[in-house]
Amino acid sequence: MIYADNAATTQLDADAFETMRCFLMEKYGNASQAYSFGVEAKKAIKKSREKIAKCIGADPEEIYFTSGGTESNNWAIKMGAGRNGDIITSVIEHHAILRPCEILERWRRNVIYAPVSLTGEIDLEFIRKNITDRTRLLSVMFANNEIGTIQPVEKLADIAHNYACIFHTDAVQAVGHVEINVHDLGIDMLSASAHKFNGPKGIGFLFIRRGVDIGAFMDGGSQEYGLRAGTENTASIAGMAVALEKNCQNIRANERHLKDLESLLLSALSDAGIRYIRNGGGHMLPGNVSLSFADVTGEMLLHRMDLQGICISTGSACDSVNTQISHVIQAIQVPEEFAEGTVRISFGKDNTRDEVYQIAGALIDIIRNQS
Ligand code: PLP
Repeated sequence: MIYADNAATTQLDADAFETMRCFLMEKYGNASQAYSFGVEAKKAIKKSREKIAKCIGADPEEIYFTSGGTESNNWAIKMGAGRNGDIITSVIEHHAILRPCEILERWRRNVIYAPVSLTGEIDLEFIRKNITDRTRLLSVMFANNEIGTIQPVEKLADIAHNYACIFHTDAVQAVGHVEINVHDLGIDMLSASAHKFNGPKGIGFLFIRRGVDIGAFMDGGSQEYGLRAGTENTASIAGMAVALEKNCQNIRANERHLKDLESLLLSALSDAGIRYIRNGGGHMLPGNVSLSFADVTGEMLLHRMDLQGICISTGSACDSVNTQISHVIQAIQVPEEFAEGTVRISFGKDNTRDEVYQIAGALIDIIRNQS
C-alpha cells in the first residue's frame, strides 16, 4: 500500500507508541491520585505539557489537553465569544468550526463568514470592514486541510487586537509541519490534534493565552486547571508530546523533502501532458497537493487508485444522483469542468520519491484511459 493521505491522519510514531505502551500497561495510575503511582502519571503529564508548549512558543500553563481538534475548536467557538459577542470566521473553515458557528447562529448570535481569494487566502479587507467593537472572536484556520493555503495569521491577530477581539486559529493541519510561535504571531487561542503529526488519535490541545478568559468547556473534576474536566489520557498525552517534539526537531528537513515530492509529482503529470489545476497558492503547507482534473470525478480517481493500493482523498463526494463539490473547492471557484475531478494527495515525511513516481504513473494511466 502507498499511503498519501497524511492530511487525513498519520502513522503513529514508533517512539510515541513505546511511550504510550508504558503508560497503558505499566505506569497506568490516575494522575489525580496522591500516591506515588499516581504522581508518576502526573509528572509525565507535566513534562508533556512543557514539551508541547516549547514546540509552539507557549508557556506550559497555556496548554489545555482535549480529545482533539474538533473539541478544541468547539471550545474556542462556543465559549470564545462570551455571552453575546459577534464572531467572524471564514467560508473555508473545517466543519469542526463551521458547525459550532451554525449552532451559535441558531442561538441568534451574529456570525460573519469572510470570503477567500481564488487561491484560498482570506480577504483581509473584508475583515477590516466588518470587525466592530461587538466582535469578540475572530477565528481563521492556520492552514486549510483541503488545499493547503496558509493564512496571514499575524495580520489577522493584529486586526483582532485593534478591537477587544480574541484571535483563534484552527492550526490542526499546521502544528508539527510549519514553525509556529504563538506569542510572536499574536495568537490568543490555537487548536491542535495529535494524529495529524504522528501522534495518537483522540487527543489534542487548545492553547489559551494567559489572561484570555473563555470559561470551562467540560464541567466535573478539577483537571486542566478546572477548565476541562475528565481523567487525563496520560498515555496519549505523553505519546502526543513525543511525536510533536520529534516532528518539530525535523521541521525544516521534512519541509524540504515534502516540497521535493510535490514538484516530482507535478512535473510527472505535466510531462505526461495531463491537464490539471493545482489548487491553493501563496504560502502553502508542505506536501498538501490539491489537484483538479477535467473530465473525471474525484470519486472515480479515489476508487481506481484504491484498487492499485494507493490512498488519496477527494474534494468532492458523489451519491448515486449527484456530485457534491466541497465548500472549499466551491469557495475558491475552481472552474466547473475541473471541480468534480478534485483529489487531495497529502505526502508525509515517510513517503519516498519512488512512491511518488508510482502515484503519478497510476494517475496518468487512469486519466488517459478514461478520456
Ligand atoms: N480542523 C482541521 C483543519 C482538520 O483538518 C481536522 C481534521 O481533519 C480537524 C479540525 C478535526 O480534528 P480531529 O480529527 O482531531 O477532531
